[in-house]
Amino acid sequence: MSELIASTIHRVSHALKRRRLHVLRVVDLTPRMRRITLGGPELAGFVSLGTDDHVKLFFPQNAAEQAALETLVLGAGKDNGPMPAMRDYTPRRYDLDTLELDIDFVLHGDGPAATWAAQAKPGQCLHIGGPRGSMVVPDIFDSYVLIGDETALPAIARRLEGLAANRCALVVVEVENAAEQQALKSSAQVNVIWVLREAGKDNLLTTVKQLQMPKGNLYAWIATESKASRQIRRVLLDEHGLDEQRVKAVGYWRLGDSDEA
Ligand SMILES: Cc1cc2nc3c(=O)[nH]c(=O)nc-3n(C[C@H](O)[C@H](O)[C@H](O)COP(=O)(O)OP(=O)(O)OC[C@H]3O[C@@H](n4cnc5c(N)ncnc54)[C@H](O)[C@@H]3O)c2cc1C
Repeated sequence: MSELIASTIHRVSHALKRRRLHVLRVVDLTPRMRRITLGGPELAGFVSLGTDDHVKLFFPQNAAEQAALETLVLGAGKDNGPMPAMRDYTPRRYDLDTLELDIDFVLHGDGPAATWAAQAKPGQCLHIGGPRGSMVVPDIFDSYVLIGDETALPAIARRLEGLAANRCALVVVEVENAAEQQALKSSAQVNVIWVLREAGKDNLLTTVKQLQMPKGNLYAWIATESKASRQIRRVLLDEHGLDEQRVKAVGYWRLGDSDEA
């Protein structure tokens, strides 16, 4: 059974828990990407098995929301008072020995999450929830096509770090400008194409249309702005002829719309 599980894409559920953590460190990876290391005893037992897992981060905007959050039991389904804003973020790295969790925030401007990240300082508190589950994509493919923008970089970096040396990865990431490019580590043979947003509109889609797909058994993953994600998925299916079962496309944010829903 364990061999079967390890060789197929599968979902693993986790006990849903709210954790009260503290900011340990704040480091700017690039001008627009800030790594915030959270920690504390409540991180014990944290688990994230999928490279594109997400946690919910809670951003109370007033004292009533903060008070309700302190006693919130996730999944209990009862009215606990005013709910604070919640946003999805990728656990970029966690270490249960040191009880640390890294979250990489895009400093995109206004929004409860980005605004909080822009002012975050060691000692401040942040509540997180989840992950509720992990979609585990084991390293069973010959090649990986990973496409996204800055918000996808934490998940892409996790995926690349887990690939074996005999795998190939074609990575296409749209970032604001050259200063936003990050070093991506992997044992696999990785080709990274950086698409600079400042260079023009629809560049990511155009680049994807022109890609030469890697050979072999292939898995593709897309995460960027919602509409762009859908368009890229269609290009991979209709123009590159990829198998729908092996293409995962997710909208990570919506242009002109907060992630309130
Ligand atoms: C599964 C999942 C994992 C994610 N992981 C990460 C992660 O690790 N790091 C990360 O930074 N983001 C990540 N995101 C994206 C993040 O949740 C959204 O960008 C979210 O909208 C940010 O919330 P906010 O409160 O800052 O802005 P919101 O209140 O949601 O939005 C306010 C305004 O900002 C705009 N906006 C939101 N995000 C962006 C952006 N990236 N660029 C430009 N404009 C934007 C909206 O269109 C809106 O007009 C992830 C999303 C999902 C679904």
